[in-house]
Amino acid sequence: MTPTTANETMLIVTSLAYILSAMLFIFGLKMLSSPETARRGNLVSATGMFIAVIFTLIRAGLDFKWIAVGVAIGAAVGVLAALKVKMTGMPEMVALFNGGGGLASMLVGWSEFHAHPDQTVVFILVSVFLAVLIGGMTFTGSVVAWGKLSGNIPSRPILFSGQQIINGGLFVITLGVGVLFCGSFYPSISAVYVPTAVILSLVIGIVTVIPIGGADMPVVISLLNSYSGLAACAAGFAIGNNILIVAGGLVGASGLILTNIMCKAMNRSLTNVLFSGFGSHEAAGGAGGAEGTAQSTSPQDAYYVLEAASSVVFVPGYGMAVAQAQHVVRELADLIEANGAEVSFAIHPVAGRMPGHMNVLLAEANVPYDKLVEMDDINQTIDTVDVCIVIGANDVVNPAAREDEGSPIYGMPIIDADKARNVFVLKRSMASGFAGIPNPLFYRSNTRMIFGDAKATIEALVEEFKS
Ligand code: NDP
Repeated sequence: MTPTTANETMLIVTSLAYILSAMLFIFGLKMLSSPETARRGNLVSATGMFIAVIFTLIRAGLDFKWIAVGVAIGAAVGVLAALKVKMTGMPEMVALFNGGGGLASMLVGWSEFHAHPDQTVVFILVSVFLAVLIGGMTFTGSVVAWGKLSGNIPSRPILFSGQQIINGGLFVITLGVGVLFCGSFYPSISAVYVPTAVILSLVIGIVTVIPIGGADMPVVISLLNSYSGLAACAAGFAIGNNILIVAGGLVGASGLILTNIMCKAMNRSLTNVLFSGFGSHEAAGGAGGAEGTAQSTSPQDAYYVLEAASSVVFVPGYGMAVAQAQHVVRELADLIEANGAEVSFAIHPVAGRMPGHMNVLLAEANVPYDKLVEMDDINQTIDTVDVCIVIGANDVVNPAAREDEGSPIYGMPIIDADKARNVFVLKRSMASGFAGIPNPLFYRSNTRMIFGDAKATIEALVEEFKS
């Protein structure tokens, strides 16, 4: 095609820029799949997004005054959040940003409806409705997830009688509103459809996430991540923006893959996670063997066992993130290795509070990637390990998941730390982990608790090795 007008030339240039952006997104995503290239992958994707935003703005001929205000507010919030958030607050921040994506898509869908209230093309109407519905659900669902992660809302499932019926009723009403809106039925009341969908979507986001509790949150977070992409994709169709469709599709698809990985990590189906109220039987679950007297020891005594060990496995968990102990852990690992022992780090896929949390922390401390061992691999040889050091991990090493059929986490794969010859559990108290379940590991005869902040305990062990 020979460009005849400036507009056509701009359209071609923008399309080429979008293709470049899409390529950068795909390469960036690919690079995110390995810790070695993840940082660069993030930059590559961000560059793709920057190009997409610039060319979209240039092409559309919009009112830049308001866009500049939006960019200034958004950039200020983003920079402040990134600078101020502590490493332990990252999962909450990710949940909120995810919700922000959903809110944006909801608003795009809503404003598209306002811009073209007489729209009758079914495909566009379906896109608008889906952008509003999925975007709104993602927003409030992510806010509830943020509340659960930050402890502002109890992490246990919040259940009430008739919940399934109310949720089912909400879905039926939403479907009805969707059919009326997309079929352009009753034009005299067409103005109420989208605002009704907005309210319904916000309520659905809350009621679908509050009954999900404890250990199931990783699945919910990855699913919400996928929803935010699907909402953006629908918004892209609604406003006819190709790069939004591509970006949303990529986020939606990769989020679904992550959800599947998380379901496998929990050994649970998605329907089971979403509809069973996991963890609600907590009170009935009993102690599951978590009774008796836990034996504690000091870092000084633990040193003698470590000094004589020929194989040591570290199992990091959320407490390592809280204590920010990753750097001293690496130092201790180096010292133990220099002492002649074989050292590795066992990584549970849902340890911490976000997918890949432990990998990120250990990469920050420059722990070599070949020292990281996946759960299934370490479990095959853990009974030959001399010492297993559990650093602020709890749910992911809870043997009740393997042994106690009455336990709410029964069936969830764990790192079999209890099978190692000696186990040191580093934590501050006997408190439960995120799932709120007692842990029989603490009472095993081969377990010694080392109470205190994990960083202080590891520092004390490092001191022992150095002296
Ligand atoms: P847990 O939440 O089960 O346990 C963490 C432990 O760390 C606590 O028992 C706490 O005990 C201890 N701790 C806290 N601060 C410190 C400190 N400064 N020093 C030493 N210990 C400390 O963590 P896990 O990693 O084992 O399990 C993750 C849980 O979070 C799972 O239930 C998972 O499903 C859930 N989850 C995971 C997500 C993900 O994507 N990875 C997302 C959302 C939830 P104490 O207070 O006694 O010190």
